[in-house]
Amino acid sequence: MRVQRALARAGAVSRREADQAVADGRVLVNGQVALVGQVVDPARDVITLDGAPVKTHVTAHRWIVLNKPAATMTTRKDPSGRTTVFDLVDDVPGLVYVGRLDFMTEGVLLLTTDGTAAHALTHPSREVERTYIATVRGDALAAAKRARQGVQLEDGLVTPRDVQAHPLGARRWAFEITIAEGKTHEVRRICDALELEVERLIRTSFGPVRLGNLPSGEARALTAAERTVLD
Ligand code: URA
Repeated sequence: MRVQRALARAGAVSRREADQAVADGRVLVNGQVALVGQVVDPARDVITLDGAPVKTHVTAHRWIVLNKPAATMTTRKDPSGRTTVFDLVDDVPGLVYVGRLDFMTEGVLLLTTDGTAAHALTHPSREVERTYIATVRGDALAAAKRARQGVQLEDGLVTPRDVQAHPLGARRWAFEITIAEGKTHEVRRICDALELEVERLIRTSFGPVRLGNLPSGEARALTAAERTVLD
């Protein structure tokens, strides 16, 4: 492919800027000033723009979001033979999940073949926001107030980014909570500490990826915009 296309495809510059950058002699291919229209191999040639290497070899990783149904395991293989999330998606070698959901928790579960990104996204320092809606019984208004001050769990204080309680009926509430960690059973433990009884738990977003109207048990590919935020 031509050097301008390799630069634009890597997202280093727009197509028009790429033409100009090459014409201005700001682009080197294997240490030599690139010629306009020069053909390069993005997987092998070392291309720099203003002295900085451009990552032109983009591996086409798969990224999907599954609306995980209740009663499915977030694991590769379940010794008890229960349905796993990999039974529900178009499975390929190297596909891993990003941030486990409990057996009975539903909603947004990302899966990718990019293991490095999967690991980075679940690291606490990345602070990816996850929003959950728990259907609960109890005094959710008082609980939401308490939660905003922080909830002490046995492995540390958790301060949700946002907490809202929406009434559903007699003492039943949709307790919407956004957190930026990913501790084991975190939302259920928060609800427990707040004396809320959880009937159902759904993750409605993970970073930029929202559940929307994706049917339960179905998966879709991430959009380019969603991937850009996660990369
Ligand atoms: N918090 C929980 O308690 N369970 C999940 O599955 C995810 C977050």
